[in-house]
Amino acid sequence: MSSVVTQPMYFDTASTTQIAQEVLDEMVACLSSNGCHGNPSSLMHQPGRAAAAVVAAARKQMAAELGCEAGEILFTSGATEANNLAIQGVALAHAEQGRHLITSKIEHKSVLETCQALERQGFDVTYLTPNRAGWIELEDVKNALRTDTLLVSLMHTNNETGIQQPLEAVADLIANAGVLFHVDASQAAGKFRIDLNSIPIDLLSISAHKFHGPKGAGCLFIRNRRRLKIQPLVFGGGQEFGLRSGTLATHQIVGLSEAMHLAASRRDADFFHVVELKSFFLERLAMQIKIKIHGDPRCCSPYLVNISIAGISSDALINQLLNDVAISSGAACSSGTIDSSYVLRAMGIDGDDLYGAVRIGFSRYHTISDVLKAAQHIVSAVHRMQELD
Ligand code: PMP
Repeated sequence: MSSVVTQPMYFDTASTTQIAQEVLDEMVACLSSNGCHGNPSSLMHQPGRAAAAVVAAARKQMAAELGCEAGEILFTSGATEANNLAIQGVALAHAEQGRHLITSKIEHKSVLETCQALERQGFDVTYLTPNRAGWIELEDVKNALRTDTLLVSLMHTNNETGIQQPLEAVADLIANAGVLFHVDASQAAGKFRIDLNSIPIDLLSISAHKFHGPKGAGCLFIRNRRRLKIQPLVFGGGQEFGLRSGTLATHQIVGLSEAMHLAASRRDADFFHVVELKSFFLERLAMQIKIKIHGDPRCCSPYLVNISIAGISSDALINQLLNDVAISSGAACSSGTIDSSYVLRAMGIDGDDLYGAVRIGFSRYHTISDVLKAAQHIVSAVHRMQELD
């Protein structure tokens, strides 16, 4: 006997998003038998040159969306690799000039663990603490700068709280100090306009699957790539300007650039849509149960919210909702551990608020009816749990 398994509604879009049909179509066309099967590095024949042209067009497209040169875009397997390459690549190539790095306690593990790996190699790292609102104070960045500081790495939008850093002011401060600035823009790229022409960011990491592109695709922007020394992490055939060897995944690169193009073409409409979704969702919840929002809502991305519900633990709530709504209590890479969120802890959140925190993500593909249904499922789950208590 076959049983029909219904999927829960998906609201964990900070973890990953569903691929857009337009992106999938382009990727399938690229992968199909009459698609683009040459190796983009095999320039001696037509199929290779055709693939190289597709990669070049994607690079140009990414550059146009970000306000930079095509030669400043380096394709990677995602933001984890881009973060590793930016931080390790710069640190190892400039170790003679300085051995100090600055980052924050609320960065993604791909930044934090990279910094820890560098500490084991003799680098000194300052981990800044955010304020209760969830962002890093400019004054703290200023005070942490030293004469031997090589690089500051701060994220654009936090993946657990949605809180956005005051990047323009930080970027100016760091540029004036003559220090390199790396930004993990995984939760921002595609969703918010990032104009690299007007903000002095030196390195920027992007992940395609956070804005309806494929998993396993991303890029690293490197300002003045020809002049900035970076030590590669992967050696081999010398692809990607000798900084990232390995045959280029043409279809993934096509997926990334198509996702970016699509996101940019509908950015404002998507933005206002998720603003509305989030506000309907929170209103519906607040009418029926007591919730607390973490981080300052005025600096928060409309794509994400982190809340605690009085007297309810996140694990129990997520379990209650298992068949109805997929939400999470933190970053996918750190869940599976029973530890509470290091991001919220760094913000000074503790007790029930900390152990009850869940994040809910909104996307262009949700409708108002979806968010109202999800809110109702949450309210019912909370009421069931309260009755059991
Ligand atoms: N940084 C942040 C802020 C993220 O949210 C993620 C995805 N969890 C990453 C980096 C890693 O991105 P990827 O999955 O492309 O390696």
